[in-house]
Amino acid sequence: MPYAPTARTKVRRVPKRGLYDEGTVHAILDEALLCHLAFLHDGVPFAMPTLHARVGDTVYLHGSTASRMMRTAGAEGVTASLTVTLVDGLVLARSAFHHSMNYRSVVVVGELRDVADPEEKMAALEAFTEGLVPGRWDEVRWPTRQELKGTSVLALPLTEASAKVRTGGPVDDEEDYALDVWAGVIPLELTTGALVADPRNRDGAAPGAHVTGWSPSRRGSTSDATRASTASGANGATSDAARVA
Ligand SMILES: Cc1cc2nc3c(=O)[nH]c(=O)nc-3n(C[C@H](O)[C@H](O)[C@H](O)COP(=O)(O)OP(=O)(O)OC[C@H]3O[C@@H](n4cnc5c(N)ncnc54)[C@H](O)[C@@H]3O)c2cc1C
Repeated sequence: MPYAPTARTKVRRVPKRGLYDEGTVHAILDEALLCHLAFLHDGVPFAMPTLHARVGDTVYLHGSTASRMMRTAGAEGVTASLTVTLVDGLVLARSAFHHSMNYRSVVVVGELRDVADPEEKMAALEAFTEGLVPGRWDEVRWPTRQELKGTSVLALPLTEASAKVRTGGPVDDEEDYALDVWAGVIPLELTTGALVADPRNRDGAAPGAHVTGWSPSRRGSTSDATRASTASGANGATSDAARVA
C-alpha cells in the first residue's frame, strides 16, 4: 500500500527517486538505528538525533519526561518531521561536481501523540529494545513503574511519509569520460566488531545468540528485499544526473 504523497511529502527534486510504498518506507525505518526529529523551539528549528521504533503504522520515540524535545514535539497541535538516512556508498565521479552518495532515506511529517496508555507505552518500550537487538526483551529486566513514570513515549502516525533512494554508479558529463580519472562506487556497510564484555558480568553470564549473531540489517529480510529491489536501479537513479539530490 503506498502512502499518498501530499504537498508536504511529494519529492520534487529528482522525483524519480521518490518512493511511497509501505514496504520501502518500513524497511528503511526499521534498518536505521537512529532518526532525527525536527521541531521548532522558540522559533529555532532543531533536528535532534534520537532512537525510534516502528510498530505497524506508528513510529515511537521515547525520552525523559523532562526532555525539551519530548515536551516541545509532543505538545498538542505541533507538527514535527522525522528523518532517517542509510548511506550505502560513496559515488566518485570524474568531476567534483558529480560526486554523490548512494542512500536510502525517509521523511515522515505529522503530529506526535503523547502515549498515556500503560500497555501501549510498555509495548513501545519493548519495540525499542527488540528493534535494537531482537530477542533482548525476553532476557532483561523490564521497566519499573518508576522508570515508566519518568519516561515519555510519543507516537507519530505513518500517514505522510516519503522515501528517497539513490542507487548505481556515477553519471558524468559526456566530455569528462575522456579524463584519466578513476570513477566508481565505494560501497559502505555497517559492521560489528568483537564483543566487549562488561567487567561486572556475573560468572557464567554468556551472550546469547541474539547478541553474538546481531546483524546491522536488523530486520534482515525486509531490508534485504529493499536493497535488492533498489540495487537494480529500479527508481531510475542510475540514469539520472549524478548529483546527490
Ligand atoms: C546521504 C544524503 C546526502 C545528500 N546530499 C545532498 C546534498 O549534498 N545536496 C543536496 O541538495 N541534497 C542532498 N541530498 C538530498 C536531500 O535529502 C534532498 O532530497 C534534496 O536536497 C532536495 O531537497 P528539497 O527540500 O528541495 O526537496 P523536495 O523534493 O522539495 O522535498 C519535498 C518533500 O520530498 C520528500 N523528500 C525530499 N528529500 C527526501 C529524502 N532525502 N528522503 C525522503 N524524503 C525526501 C520530503 O517529504 C520533502 O518534504 C542528500 C540525501 C541523502 C540521503
